[in-house]
Amino acid sequence: RLVAAAPASSQEEALERALRPKRLADYTGQVKIREQLEIFIGAARNRKEALDHVLLFGPPGLGKTTLAHIIAAEMGVNLRQTSGPVLERAGDLAALLTNLEPHDVLFIDEIHRLSPVVEEVLYPALEDYQIDIMIGEGPAARSVKLDLPPFTLVGATTRAGMLTNPLRDRFGIVARLEFYNAEELRQIVGRSAQLLKVGIEDDGALEIARRARGTPRIANRLLRRVRDFAEVKANGEITRPVADAALTMLDVDPVGLDIMDRKLLDAVIEKFSGGPVGVDNLAAAIGESRDTIEDVLEPYLIQQGYLQRTPRGRVATAAVYRHLGLLPPNSATP
Ligand code: ADP
Repeated sequence: RLVAAAPASSQEEALERALRPKRLADYTGQVKIREQLEIFIGAARNRKEALDHVLLFGPPGLGKTTLAHIIAAEMGVNLRQTSGPVLERAGDLAALLTNLEPHDVLFIDEIHRLSPVVEEVLYPALEDYQIDIMIGEGPAARSVKLDLPPFTLVGATTRAGMLTNPLRDRFGIVARLEFYNAEELRQIVGRSAQLLKVGIEDDGALEIARRARGTPRIANRLLRRVRDFAEVKANGEITRPVADAALTMLDVDPVGLDIMDRKLLDAVIEKFSGGPVGVDNLAAAIGESRDTIEDVLEPYLIQQGYLQRTPRGRVATAAVYRHLGLLPPNSATP
């Protein structure tokens, strides 16, 4: 499937690592975040302090993990990586924290999925670089305070609204990643093509960029599929017509919507007369989870003006009727 959830396979994960920019200067787009981080990292380095805790939020595939690695590289420290669902017990987090070196980066992906007991351990760690751990069991059990080295937590989440307030309040730097425009994605595709040693014309890169749902992960994924097509059907060179033919074959439409996007939009239009429809009803209608709709599918559709989120539910816009070649329900026919 083409939508950007997690990397689709371990093979894709390895490739993503290879394509990941390593320094801030190579990180395309997200200009505001880059400028801010440059200043904060420079200042922390000058003062020989750990960088403030950083919360990154935005849809999957926009570069949160990449940025976490870049922060560690620019600070000149190690990065330890884990994720909310993996940290089941308080001890899992304590073990990670007590093994950090001064100023290290701890990256917690899907931080909104931390269990409450683990979150409790995190608060004093973030605030005072201290944790309380329980030693022994039963009546002899007692709690011991442990000092931690100063460190930086980088948390990533698809939606900032899913974090508890006390957790969100402990991040000094909060950055919202935006969808990339076509020119930024064209640069990313061009750079990836170079690393993969794929011949590509600028127009070919732009065609892939335009149809990548504003998302670097999808752009890189489409590049590899288009490369396969170019090798078999053309002479290996990605031109605009080659990219167009390949993407059409992959059911990626001219504005980059894929099968899942169209399934969702079709459901809103056909089954719910254009909406408003609640997200749970929509999820049931298309057989996807509510989370997939809210995290993966609808942010781009909303940003592009195809879907609207209203208090009563999701509504298909006139733009999406136009795009699908349909007549909006309340358009007065002459
Ligand atoms: P997230 O953690 O937000 O899901 P990742 O950081 O894993 O996203 O990024 C997915 C892929 O997109 C990576 O392979 C990375 O190389 C690429 N990528 C993301 N952001 C950028 C960027 N700003 N410049 C170049 N490549 C990027």
